[in-house]
Amino acid sequence: MTMIPSKTLTNGVEMPYLGLGVYKMTEPEVALQAMVKALEVGYRAIDTAALYNNETEVGEAIRQSNVAREEIFVTTKVWNTDQGYDETLRAFETSLKKLGLEYVDLYLTHWPVEGKFVDTYRAIERLYEEKLIRVPGVSNHHIHHLEKVFAKANVKPMVNQVELQPYLAQEELRAFCKENDIAVTAWSPLGQGRVLEDAVITDIAQQLGKSTAQVILRWHYQNDVITIPKSVTPSRIEQNMQIFDFELSAEQMEKMNQLNKNQRFGSDPDNFDF
Ligand code: NAD
Repeated sequence: MTMIPSKTLTNGVEMPYLGLGVYKMTEPEVALQAMVKALEVGYRAIDTAALYNNETEVGEAIRQSNVAREEIFVTTKVWNTDQGYDETLRAFETSLKKLGLEYVDLYLTHWPVEGKFVDTYRAIERLYEEKLIRVPGVSNHHIHHLEKVFAKANVKPMVNQVELQPYLAQEELRAFCKENDIAVTAWSPLGQGRVLEDAVITDIAQQLGKSTAQVILRWHYQNDVITIPKSVTPSRIEQNMQIFDFELSAEQMEKMNQLNKNQRFGSDPDNFDF
């Protein structure tokens, strides 16, 4: 079975470089099957959120699998309407109950809600001090959001999960995160499936005898970026983790890097209304 390598976070915790994203897996039976399949073929990380309404299935999949809880890295997130210090502590309790777990590996502020995200992170820090989470983090934070968080935090976020795909390479944010020991996770790493037919990526995929999804996921990995591709299709779930037995050349990496056009498929963290 393929072993997925891990990134060592700044506090020594190992976070798998690739996990299953489960957004829009709303049909419980479909979600459960996808998660169980992923764990069966070697995934050791699942990325959910209170918003996704499938934390119950995440817990159920872990219990149904033959994999020990400690070997699985579970991420969840506090939704925007639950932000603020006390609200976040309460939201976490609800998530933990739905998951049916004793701790969460990584807990994230889902979006930087103006006037609230700093307090939200302070609550996440408290959960970390209380050992209810193994890693404190954030999502959708630009550099200026991170700087506001740093000003009030004792422990910096260790992960920032942002939209990152070939057309949105996030070079400046990645460099900033690297300087500050923050691991970067790419959400919509495959651009929600909308970059899979790109001519340059297709060409590289043909050279390597791989799929375009695999080339993109490998590009992320060689850029030291963690990915959480989503699929409910068993063959794709398997295919997406088969990226650790080949390499993109420096020239192929350069071609991939040049695809950037700062194009988002999701919302800009400076301008969202949810
Ligand atoms: P993605 O880039 O992972 O693309 C998913 C789509 O690509 C699937 O629906 C499928 O149609 C297609 N696909 C997947 N594997 C494929 C393959 N091998 N071949 C062909 N097509 C394939 O997009 P996403 O679901 O938006 O993002 C992944 C995860 O990121 C989510 O499930 C969620 O966990 C997380 N996410 C987080 C945020 C956030 O605000 N933090 C926002 C969006 C998504």
